[in-house]
Amino acid sequence: MAGPSVTVDEAKIEANARAIVGLCAEHGIETIGVCKVVCGMPAVAKAMIRGGVRGVGESRLENVLRLRAGGIVEPISLLRIPPLSAAADIVTSADLSLNSEMSVVRALSLAAEERGIRHGVVLMVDLGDLREGFWPDDLMEAVRETLELPGIRFQGIGANLACYGGVIPTEKNMGELADWAARIEDAFGTKVETVSGGNSSALPLVAAGKMPARINQLRIGEAILLGRETVRRQPWPGTAQDAFALAAEIIELKRKPSVPIGEIGQDAFGGRPVFADKGEMLRAILNVGREDADVDGLFPRDRNIVILGASSDHLIADVTACRPPLALGDELTFDMSYSALLAVMTSAYVEKRLVDDRRRVGDTRTLFAGASKLFADPQPWLGAALQGGEPEFSPACGIVECLERMRAGGRVVVAGATARARELCAAMAAAGLPLGMIWIGPEPDFDFGLLGVGSDPVPPEARLSPEQLVFLGLRNVGKEQAELVRRLRIESYTMEDVDVLGVRETMRRALRRAATGCRGVLVRFDPAVADRGRDGLTDRECHLAMETVAASDLLRVLDVSGREPAGERDASRWRRFMLSALGKRILT
Ligand SMILES: *Cc1c(COP(=O)(O)O)cnc(C)c1O
Repeated sequence: MAGPSVTVDEAKIEANARAIVGLCAEHGIETIGVCKVVCGMPAVAKAMIRGGVRGVGESRLENVLRLRAGGIVEPISLLRIPPLSAAADIVTSADLSLNSEMSVVRALSLAAEERGIRHGVVLMVDLGDLREGFWPDDLMEAVRETLELPGIRFQGIGANLACYGGVIPTEKNMGELADWAARIEDAFGTKVETVSGGNSSALPLVAAGKMPARINQLRIGEAILLGRETVRRQPWPGTAQDAFALAAEIIELKRKPSVPIGEIGQDAFGGRPVFADKGEMLRAILNVGREDADVDGLFPRDRNIVILGASSDHLIADVTACRPPLALGDELTFDMSYSALLAVMTSAYVEKRLVDDRRRVGDTRTLFAGASKLFADPQPWLGAALQGGEPEFSPACGIVECLERMRAGGRVVVAGATARARELCAAMAAAGLPLGMIWIGPEPDFDFGLLGVGSDPVPPEARLSPEQLVFLGLRNVGKEQAELVRRLRIESYTMEDVDVLGVRETMRRALRRAATGCRGVLVRFDPAVADRGRDGLTDRECHLAMETVAASDLLRVLDVSGREPAGERDASRWRRFMLSALGKRILT
């Protein structure tokens, strides 16, 4: 691992969501799960949804699109007041938006009308926090006009406290919001379906039984993700605070004095540091810095570690008190504040991983599924080269058996003329264990239905998100395919890219991209990519690509497909590629 990584524990997020949703439900309140701090990471939204939230809230359009592409079919609310210029994009991607400007609501109405749809609108009321919202004097006029707009469905009203001004939700200010709902119903004879009371800062009021009955929705982010209410940032009962962990590696470990030697001027950020003399200490430098995280919001899980400071790329800590003593190369883990989490999830330098408990238990053997010439006579070629226990050959194996093996943490190898990527990938996604995909071959001859595109799409819950698909080794691409690849923003490495970047770097980038937010990857390998005579990869380059896959420990499915071997010579060559992906090394 070259840089820091953040690990996301979906099970904890799901359980936290369940705890919050349960509490709110007891008080007649529905919960919207807010995932803006994780940049709309689909796996996080899905965990919230399994925990019972009724919809997802996001503040940025890019993240809304990411959620949709990631297979979220639940209603998505756009939380940040929409920009006037983006009305068309908003009505086609979000079901609802929170609003405080009538000119924007009018533009949303026009855009929706043009498309024959209705866009849901929640009008925000400013109860004193001085962030978004109509001033109460203007609210009734706004409702009147909103009700008349043909492209708009008036969903209700809402408020947002404790964000800019730090105003605490109380019986009084929440009561005002409830009163406005009643006044609107009286004046216009219409039902105010949603009265959206606020965010995680409203939970103490709910738990105390003091939230006015008319408030029937909360939009909750931090309490679900970090297990804290946000008035005093206390742990919330029944939730875990450690669903996210940042890990960084010790890159220097030395005894040094605690006070710098020489005249003290400014540090890298223009600050004037002061130092307490604690004598000599064991100081660790970690490969994480202000470029990756808000270091003031990092809290070492080992309480014996004291953070001393940070620059762009280094975090310096006193680790003198750690027992057993730390070593160079050790990984330290940190809990994070909301702002630190926001930074690491946004940083391109921090790898995002999911906790995968299932990998440690169960049947982790490699299953060679189906009948293929490549699997014939395994003993002479297979040897003892495989990682992860004895291989198993199952010529008549079906999708259920494959899925079982993958769920248990094992790997599946398939081969044949046609790729099995669609059924395997879709089955894993539908089981809540999505795989990323690296499609290695000369052509993007990929079943785009897996992305939900074209005439034969897989159902939404079984989809692969375009951001988790990578094409590699392309050299024959049709015009329409190129257009599709561009439009869906599928990361692609042509032979030219491979030449420029090198095989290992290309593969590393592909693995990282495809695996983000997934339970490992499916690698589809079309042996036709290996054809240096016709501008393809050399055999050695194919081995290096496959060795990089093995080293990543991310491989869940290997699909050697696109054609059948012409003879035993091909078959034995392709088997050697297969073995490299499964962990065979030159020196083992
Ligand atoms: C971010 C946000 C929320 C969620 O806030 P948390 O403190 O994370 O619960 C709710 N509503 C709006 C409008 C937001 O912008």
